[in-house]
Amino acid sequence: HSGFVAIIGRPNVGKSTLLNRIVGQKVAIMSDKAQTTRNRIQGIYTTKDTQMVFIDTPGIHKPHSRLGDFMVKSALSTLGEVDAVLFMINADERRGAGDNFIIDRLKSVNKPIYLVINKIDQIHPDRLLEIMDQYKDAISWADVYPISALEGNNVDELVATLKSKL
Ligand code: GDP
Ligand code: MG
Repeated sequence: HSGFVAIIGRPNVGKSTLLNRIVGQKVAIMSDKAQTTRNRIQGIYTTKDTQMVFIDTPGIHKPHSRLGDFMVKSALSTLGEVDAVLFMINADERRGAGDNFIIDRLKSVNKPIYLVINKIDQIHPDRLLEIMDQYKDAISWADVYPISALEGNNVDELVATLKSKL
């Protein structure tokens, strides 16, 4: 199995934490320094039968400048080139303008898009359905994964699913 996976979401939802968890601390920290305006490879997950390249896609937010506009366009072109997209939200925050901006862009992306609800360790389990409800009709999700990137809950299952689709 091999392929490219893009991770997008508002700042601080836990994208880097998930990458650390999947590919190992060292790799993700190293590549975090390589700040560019373009999309960057954040980590490569390799096992005997699998290679998955994870790409952080910064810059999908409402552009306020020509540089910002350029970044949004380049991030969007990346989404057209990957095999799957993980859209990550924070379970502990309500759906906001930042999420909606990304969701609107995702509507024209013809790839499997997974809704990753992160930081479930921060919420009471009863709230999960309510959160899923806020996003249910946003786009047609390939699947929904409630996870804790920090504690590792459900991360192996997410990786296994991605793997099985590549
Ligand atoms: P990014 O901006 O999307 O890359 O977010 P980061 O990975 O840098 O995480 C932002 C903050 O959220 C950090 O303080 C993380 O430790 C914290 N964080 C990430 N994932 C989780 C999680 O699953 N649970 C909790 N409680 N905190 C998390
Ligand atoms: Mg980050």
